[in-house]
Formats: sequence, C-alpha cells, structure tokens
Amino acid sequence: MPTTGTVTTPTGTADGVGLRGGTEPLIFEKSSPGNCAVSLPDSDVPAVEPASAIPADLLADAPPPLPEIGELQLVRHFTRLSHRLFSVDTQFYPLGSCTMKYNPRINEHAAALPGFAGLHPLAPDAMSQGALRLLFELRTWLAEVAGLDEVSLQPCAGAHGEMTGLMVIIACHRSRGQNGRTKVLTPDSSHGTNPASCTLCGRHAVPVKSNARGRVDLDDLRAKVDDETAAMMITNPSTLGLFEDQIAAIAEILHDAGAMLYLDGANMNAIMGLTRPGDFGVDVMHFNTHKTFSTPHGGGGPGAGPIAVRKHLAPFLPAPQVVKKADGTFAWDFDRPQSIGRVRSFNGQFGVLVRAWTYIRALGNSGLRQASETAVLAANYLAARLKDAYDLPYALPCMHEFVLSAVRQKARGVTGMDVAKRLIDYDIHPPTTYFPMIVPEALMIEPTETESLAVLDRFVEVMLRIAAEAESDPDALHAAPTRGYIRRADVVAGDRKPNLRWEAE
Ligand SMILES: *Cc1c(COP(=O)(O)O)cnc(C)c1O
Repeated sequence: MPTTGTVTTPTGTADGVGLRGGTEPLIFEKSSPGNCAVSLPDSDVPAVEPASAIPADLLADAPPPLPEIGELQLVRHFTRLSHRLFSVDTQFYPLGSCTMKYNPRINEHAAALPGFAGLHPLAPDAMSQGALRLLFELRTWLAEVAGLDEVSLQPCAGAHGEMTGLMVIIACHRSRGQNGRTKVLTPDSSHGTNPASCTLCGRHAVPVKSNARGRVDLDDLRAKVDDETAAMMITNPSTLGLFEDQIAAIAEILHDAGAMLYLDGANMNAIMGLTRPGDFGVDVMHFNTHKTFSTPHGGGGPGAGPIAVRKHLAPFLPAPQVVKKADGTFAWDFDRPQSIGRVRSFNGQFGVLVRAWTYIRALGNSGLRQASETAVLAANYLAARLKDAYDLPYALPCMHEFVLSAVRQKARGVTGMDVAKRLIDYDIHPPTTYFPMIVPEALMIEPTETESLAVLDRFVEVMLRIAAEAESDPDALHAAPTRGYIRRADVVAGDRKPNLRWEAE
C-alpha cells in the first residue's frame, strides 16, 4: 500500500501509457474551502434544534473535514481515475475462475428498461406480470441447463448460493431425522468459498485429496465418507480446469452413504449445453449468473447465484417462489411450509437476473453450447502454445481454463507473481495467481469465448516474451509493473496494516 496520499505515475513511455499519466491527488487534497458540487434550494423544513434531537455528548465539535470541491473538478477527478481501470471493455482479462467474458450491451439495455428498473419490489403480482414471467422463464431455463427439477433465484452470489444449497441439504437431512450429518467433503483444489460456506452453516469442511491426474482420489473419498457426511461440494469442471471424469462414481459413493452431491457451478461456462449436472448425479448446484450468463463483475458485484435442486430438495428451497398459476398468470407462492425461508431481501438481485435472461434468450440453446465449445477451444489453444515455455502440471485437454506453474521460472528467481505483474506492462490483466493452492507458482488462465484469435495470439506472444525475459534478465521482472499507473504494491502490508484513512498534514 502506498503510504503517501498520491498515486504516482512513471514518466511517459513510448507506448503512450504515460500520456494519460501524471499524479492524481486524493480528492481531499484537491479540497478548497467554499467550493461545492451541488446546489440545493434552501430548506423549507424548520430546523430542529440539535440539542433536542441528539444528546449533547454525542455531538461532534466541528463538521467532518469532507472535501470541498466544484462539480467539474469532481467529474474530472473520477473520470480520470476511471480511465486507469483495467476492464473487459478495454483489455484482455484472462482471470481464471472468474469468466471475465464480454458483457453484451443488450443485457444492459434490457435491465435499464423503465418497466424493470423502476419496478417496486413490493408491487402487487397483478402489476408485475412481465417481471414475474421473466423470473419464471429464467427459473425454467436454468433448471433445463442444470438437468434438475426446481430453481430458486434468491441467492445473490455464488458463495451465497453455496450457503443456501447447504441449508437446503441440511433441512432435508433434518426432515429425515438425520441431525448428525456434520461433515461436508471438499476436494483440496476447491475454491475458498466452499469450506467457508460449510463453516457458516455449522458444518466441518473435510478436504479430500486430489490424485496425480488432478481428479478426486477415490480411495481417500471412500475413507472419508460416512454416516456423518451431509454432502460433498465439488467444482466440475474443477478449479484446475479439468473435467472430473469419475463424477458418476463419486455421486454413487455419496448416495450410498445417504449423503448428497453439491456442485459448485462457477465453471458452467465450459459445459452448458454439452452435459447437465443433474445427469451426472448432482443433487444441488449453484450458477454464477454474473460469470456464465454475463453481468459485469470486475468490481466484485452485484451478482446472482441461483440454485437448482433435485425434486426431493424442492420443498426446502427459499420462499417465496415464483410460480405459474393454472390460469396462466404468474405469482409469488409463499405457502411453502418446509422452506428454509428467505435468504435475501425482496426477490433476489433482479437486475442481474434480467441480464441472465437476456443473455440466454439472445444465444438460445445452440448459442449457449457454442459459447462453451469456443471457451474450451480457446483455453486448449493457449495451453498447447504455452506448455513448452511454462510447466503444465496436468495433461491436456483442459476445459475452459488451465493452470500453468512458473516453477521453472522460479528456479531463476522469477515468481508467478512477477510473471503476472509483468503482463500489466503489456496492457493485459494478470491471470489468477497462487490458486488452486495445490499447484506451486500457479497461473490460472481463462480466456473465455469472446476473444478473437488475434488477441489470443498476442497473449501467447507476450507470455513467451516474459518467459524469455525470465531467462535473460530475471531480476528486472521483480520491478514489474514499470509502465502502469502504480508500481508493485506491498500486498502483505496492504492486508496486515492497511492505511485507508486520510489525515490532514
Ligand atoms: C467465483 C467462484 C465462487 C464464488 O462465487 P461468487 O459469485 O464470487 O460468490 C465459488 N467457487 C468458484 C469455483 C468460483 O470460481
């Protein structure tokens, strides 16, 4: 973390990055007394005596030192900062496990339609038939993609879907008088949210080993499944970018023990339209609609994490549920006595669900399938072209992403992080690094289906050039990025001693 208040930029470089550069002070440093960005009419509400409303000892001595700045200066400040962002709309963004695909503008158009954007969440059913129909159709389509029976659109992120799915599983076990199922198995390659969701639901996450092929070690699984196991949470395709080809056997092992199979569906972008989780034994899954069905999510949200379940779990889904009545109209059904209740205010992340509906509608069945096929092809192309310059720990073919290891570069003193940071100098967003944790110096690359061959080829060229730099001048890579707006941040200090508060000199 920078300890000064300013973001400094290296002086101009030949490629023009510096032309947009220069120092951008904090908005506090631009403050000048008397400036104001808003102009409001005088209040016609009589002022309340502060002392009568707020106890005197809670009153501040002076107003907070908020920045005083004019409207144009304010707009320029934030517009300049916005131009410094990496985004899918400006640069290649191969961040593994995130599916940073292009977000078609038609999704934004649909979500902004006044009938959707301005609809009050408590509007009566009769006044929101269009929105209810959209939710009902999305519910139906997601069930079809999942190969499962019923869907809840309420959860508002993948991790939230995990928690909701586990709550549904736990409620189902409980209804069968099985309260002792306190364990949830997770492969050692799993995403951090998986064990975290288990803990949040009061279960113990028990890791299961991966084998040399990057798949679940079935012997270890058999040894760990017992009558205390509630479920296994598995990501398929896995975070190693591999399809778990033993998935049917895994489902059988769990079901024989009275446990259930939960699928983390974050990687549906590799398999939608090609295979269905319900067909390979999954009981519950979540979608990350902001990944697979495209909503901008680089800034961390908002997202949506609908879950799909098999019939025996449907009664426990969150309430209310959108339903189609016998007369063809749509309604919220609150009469679900076994439901785990609400997991989200109102009806979930509606705007994100509109985008998912629009994306699916625009592509259709064959388009979804083609998106998966192209994403898988793009990842295999990159992996095949890079596997001689970097280590590829697991054999191809991969699915929509793959994990390289920079161990060879590490031997020259260049870490995976150095490689990732160097990509910024070439105007490419770094891949996911150091995850999955079972791969040393991991670089997890997910190109998605929306990039052209020319972009993929340039990425290969840059990655090969960095591999050559690691040979010829390894020390220089520790300084990367040298051409971006900021230099390498001290991420450890940023985490342990974050300096987030501006103080006047
Ligand atoms: C992204 C991701 C998650 C978490 O999803 P959010 O929508 O960010 O909460 C969980 N598991 C995997 C494998 C992921 O890639």
